Amino acid sequence: MFTHHCTACNRRQLILPSQVTRLDNTHRGIDVTFTCWCGSEQSLLTGRAAQQPRATLVA
Ligand SMILES: [Zn+2]
Repeated sequence: MFTHHCTACNRRQLILPSQVTRLDNTHRGIDVTFTCWCGSEQSLLTGRAAQQPRATLVA
């Protein structure tokens, strides 16, 4: 689990593994897609290749 600042509800939320819907291994790092407690789909780039944590709203 990890914390994430949601761009939809503008809150820092604790994201549980059960909320993760997709993991994509890209050249930029691991793209984690999950559903926030508010119901918004969010993504987070993580892993060794990621320059810095990033959060974007996937519309
Ligand atoms: Zn949210």
